[in-house]
Amino acid sequence: MPKKGTKSRKGTDDEPKQEKNKLPEHLEVQRTRVVCKGDAPVNTEGFQYAGAFAAMGIDNSVSADKFCKNFKVVVNRLTEDDMEFDMIGIDASMANAFRRILIAEVPTMAIEKVLMADNTSVIADEVLSHRLGLIPLDADPRLFEYISENDVPTERNTIVYKLHVSCQKGSPRLTVKSGDLEWLPEGSQLPLASPAQSGDKQKTYTSFSQSQKDILEKPLGVKFKDITIARLGPGQAIELEVHAVKGIGKVHAKWSPVATAWYRMLPEVVLREEIKDADAEMLVAKCPVNVFDIEDLGNGEKRAVVARPRACTLCRQCVMGPTGEVMGPTVEQVELRRVRDHFIFTIESTGALPPEMLFTEAVRILEEKCERVISELS
Ligand code: SF4
Repeated sequence: MPKKGTKSRKGTDDEPKQEKNKLPEHLEVQRTRVVCKGDAPVNTEGFQYAGAFAAMGIDNSVSADKFCKNFKVVVNRLTEDDMEFDMIGIDASMANAFRRILIAEVPTMAIEKVLMADNTSVIADEVLSHRLGLIPLDADPRLFEYISENDVPTERNTIVYKLHVSCQKGSPRLTVKSGDLEWLPEGSQLPLASPAQSGDKQKTYTSFSQSQKDILEKPLGVKFKDITIARLGPGQAIELEVHAVKGIGKVHAKWSPVATAWYRMLPEVVLREEIKDADAEMLVAKCPVNVFDIEDLGNGEKRAVVARPRACTLCRQCVMGPTGEVMGPTVEQVELRRVRDHFIFTIESTGALPPEMLFTEAVRILEEKCERVISELS
């Protein structure tokens, strides 16, 4: 209640009316959107302070309850090797944490050791080994343990494949493909240099106590059988054995489970004024990904509308003048924004695990990290 003798302030008709528990539009845009201006984006930092809008009765704090209420994941596309989903209600730092974990910390199996028995191809041993290391293996890393330098290779931490190909004299050139790698479920077949004692089994480069066929549900192999490894001329041969172990992309990119994992903020294209007739036609023609459409107003007039904002690539063509400078006739009329807490996330798996499983693994790894921090702190 206003004090006696003071006048309560009433809004005039010209002043914008502020809804209860809602910020005025310009502040809401600053809080929730990054605006992409001609030369650089603005409002990139947002408002982190919990009491930033306390004077207006708006709570800007972050809480687990609020997060749980607002957080949403919507899967838009899911195939065997790739997926796109929307992650809504999350901070950029969290989205980036998932991206980095996916690239560098979700483990896979990759070829680490190459035991070269014979290589008369034109490819040097080192180059051949490098190529082999990058072949995606069809092996679930969750079924294996990490191996350290002093560990013995066993059926629990090592997968062995052999490659034995030759091109006979007088035959045409032979292409060696990844599908020629043959899984050895009983372990290495190459004998160690020291001969076996009488009656003992000859020792090899691995110590499997049982066949991997007995502990795995499906046979192991390579994800893609048509990756070219080498070309052999007549009389040339390759004979080798490879040992694959569990590792993470942080150590070497060959263990990264994704071809790529990336995100972009949800685009929002706003027409601040009506753009009509010839200007509308020009705007529609400028956009290379058809974000705009023409709407017939029925009275012989047409106007531009934003039909597919999600497709916007932020190329800024729509706000450019004829000579390419960001100051065309529509620079004040079109506003390019990004929704700060809405991420369009794409995961392309290399094949070791399906993309949805990779994301679940990334969540699990982040959870483990948080638990570690909490336990260290306490
Ligand atoms: S920034 Fe490029 S893609 Fe986005 S609406 Fe403008 S012209 Fe189209």
